[in-house]
Amino acid sequence: MKTELYNAKTQKENGTGVAGRVIRAGGLVVFPTETVYGLGANGLDGEAVAKIFEAKGRPNDNPLILHVAKKSDVRPLWVKIPDTARLLMDEFWPGPLTLVYLKSSIVPDAVTAGLDTVAVRMPEHRTALALIRAAGVPIAAPSANLSGKPSPTRIEHVLEDMDGRVDVMLDGGPCSVGVESTVLSLVGTPTILRPGGVTKEMLESVIGTVRVANAVLNPLGENEVAASPGMKYRHYAPDCEVVVAEGSPRRAASIINREYSLAESEGKNCIIFATEQTKSYYKGKKYVIIGDRDMPSSLCASLFAALRDESGGTDIIFAEAIPAREQGLAYMNRLLRASGFTVLNN
Ligand code: AMP
Ligand code: MG
Repeated sequence: MKTELYNAKTQKENGTGVAGRVIRAGGLVVFPTETVYGLGANGLDGEAVAKIFEAKGRPNDNPLILHVAKKSDVRPLWVKIPDTARLLMDEFWPGPLTLVYLKSSIVPDAVTAGLDTVAVRMPEHRTALALIRAAGVPIAAPSANLSGKPSPTRIEHVLEDMDGRVDVMLDGGPCSVGVESTVLSLVGTPTILRPGGVTKEMLESVIGTVRVANAVLNPLGENEVAASPGMKYRHYAPDCEVVVAEGSPRRAASIINREYSLAESEGKNCIIFATEQTKSYYKGKKYVIIGDRDMPSSLCASLFAALRDESGGTDIIFAEAIPAREQGLAYMNRLLRASGFTVLNN
C-alpha cells in the first residue's frame, strides 16, 4: 500500500480529517503523541485491530492501549471507574499515564489479547487528541515500530519501519517524553507494569503506596507469568550490541573505557552514550552526549532516537546505568531491555 504522509501544514488543511475517516473505515494511521509515535486503528473494531499486529509483526498475546480524547470516554470501556482512577485521571490526564482496569463487553478481545482488563490513556499531544476526536472512536495503538525495535520518537524512524505498511502518517516532529507511557494496573494493589514519564513518586503522592512489578528491572524468570504480557518480549533492540556499566559515574566510565579499548583492539566499532557529567572521562573515544544524569527525563527523551541513530555501522554501544528512581526507573527499564540485560559492574 502507498502511505500518505501529512506534515504540520497539510494536517491542518485536511490531513487530520482524512486520518479520522481512515480510522473509522478500518485503516491504519501513524500519529504523534508526547511519548512515542503510535500506530492506530479503530479500537472497537477487532478486524481493524488485527491489522496493527500484522503491520508490526507483534505477537498477538501482547495487548494494546486504547487512546481516548476525554476522561468521560473511559466509562464505556471499563466495568466501572474505581476511585483511584478518578484521582489519577484528575491529576495526570491528559498525559503519559495508562490505567489498566476490568474491561466492559464492548472492548474486542483483539485489543486485550483475551485478558479481562483493558489499558486506557488520554494523550496530551494536540495532534493525537484531534485525530481521536475526528475518528469519534477510541484508538487502539501500540508504538509505531516493527516489533522488537526501539520505539520511534522521530518521523524518520517511523518511516524506516512503517512506510508502505499503513494508510496515513501524521508528522508531529520529535516526541517530547521519548519513552512510552507509565502503565499502572488498578486491579488489586496499584502496580506499575511499565515505568514512564509519570513516576512512582508522582503516583504515590496522589494514591499512596504503589508497587513496581518485578519484571520492570529484572529479566522474567523461566516459570514466571508476566503481569504485563509485553514484559516477555525482547524489546527496544537496536541493530548492535548494547552493554550497560553500573556503579558511580566515575566507576561506570572506567569500566566502559576498559571494555571499549578491549573491543576496539578486536577491530570492533564502539560508541559511548555519555552524559553531561561524564563526557570528560571519554576523551579520545567516540561518544555522544545523550543527556544529564541529574535530569533523567533528558535521558529518556533521547534514548530511543540515539539507539536508532548510533547503531548503524556500530558493533557495541556502551551506556552508564543511573539510579532507578523518578524517571530514572523508566530509563533503566528501557536500557536494560535494549541490552538484553547485559550489565557489567566490575
Ligand atoms: P505498547 O503498545 O507497545 O506501548 O505496549 C503496551 C504495553 O501495555 C505492553 O507492555 C502491554 O503488555 C501493556 N498492556 C496493555 N494492556 C494491558 C493489560 N490489559 N494488562 C496488562 N498490561 C497491558
Ligand atoms: Mg511498543
